[in-house]
Amino acid sequence: MGGNKALVLVSRPAGMLSVDNFNVVDIDVPTPEDGQILVRANYASLDPGIRKTLAETNTYWVPTPLGAALTSNIVGKVIESRHPVCNGGDLVAGSGQLQQYSTFAPGPMCWKLNPDSKLPISTGLGILGATGLTAYFGLLAVGDPKPGETVLVSGAAGAVGSAVGQIAKIKGCRAVGIAGGPEKTLRLVEEFGFDAAIDYRGKSREELQAEIAAACPAGVDVYFDNVGGIQLDAALANMNWKGRIPVCGLISEYNLTGAPDPMVNLFSIVGKTLRVEGFLAFTYAEQFPEALRELEQWVLEGRLAYREHIEEGVEAAPSVFVKLFTGQNDGKTLVHIAD
Ligand code: NDP
Repeated sequence: MGGNKALVLVSRPAGMLSVDNFNVVDIDVPTPEDGQILVRANYASLDPGIRKTLAETNTYWVPTPLGAALTSNIVGKVIESRHPVCNGGDLVAGSGQLQQYSTFAPGPMCWKLNPDSKLPISTGLGILGATGLTAYFGLLAVGDPKPGETVLVSGAAGAVGSAVGQIAKIKGCRAVGIAGGPEKTLRLVEEFGFDAAIDYRGKSREELQAEIAAACPAGVDVYFDNVGGIQLDAALANMNWKGRIPVCGLISEYNLTGAPDPMVNLFSIVGKTLRVEGFLAFTYAEQFPEALRELEQWVLEGRLAYREHIEEGVEAAPSVFVKLFTGQNDGKTLVHIAD
């Protein structure tokens, strides 16, 4: 039958993922079971966390079997509903597959988009979706920043990181970002309103530690970590007493084959009584409606800027996915599947 273009995993990446690990194939349109909806995707999201699901065993999510479509967040229109809260024609965001048609069940990982939103539906995956919610709850619920405190963010020019720095500013904090290269660090200050930015590329742990100290003269109260590795270690050395570290992701480790570089500043967690806490945005699902209202209001007021990196079609997904790990993506990274 076919009629459902999908991005499938054909080989497990060893180290850095490559376009050759994937293939685009035509599969059947799935049939929703009781309690499920069938959704036609408008956009699908390429998230760094998908890389974790490509390993045969991982500590994050259900592994993707060889030959199966990749897990992906999608926004799209309900084509058929066998669930009482959704009707045909509703716009939803949810955790489906990177393919034209997905089935899933409404719940913490799937919600209706606000039909009155003034922003494009692609934002249902980004600033008004998993990305914005990750920044919002990771910073505010886990990081617990107070006005006047210093918030340091890694992966700061990315989708989550750029929102974290701006929300920190909205909450009256000093925001300092770490990103790769002069163009992105300039963008942090000029476009996203960070107070200072650090370029991590080519720097040793000691150099980063010194640059963080210079950019954060009052020390770091909240370190929002998207990256792990030596950036985390350099931040640990600069944390203030009772600092908080929301651990959002560890992208520097996703393509490693061996062990990461050893940490030398771990004892700061004890010596400075730090709180280091991993989190997943969907655990705050009950509070999503209020958070989404606030995020949209900030965007409309011009206080929360966002970028989207959109390429065309399921066919573009392999090369777009690789860009997440080379820093060549330029904002929330999506493929456009249908209007
Ligand atoms: P981004 O838009 O930030 O894109 C990824 C960026 O990471 C790249 O542009 C690059 O930026 C940087 N990067 C890639 N490889 C490395 C590396 N080896 N070392 C340092 N930086 C690297 O992606 P997202 O905003 O979607 O995701 C950011 C983080 O948030 C990830 O760790 C992801 O897993 C995590 N996440 C967690 C969620 C949760 O619920 N906990 C939900 C969503 C995302 P640069 O050019 O600056 O190096």
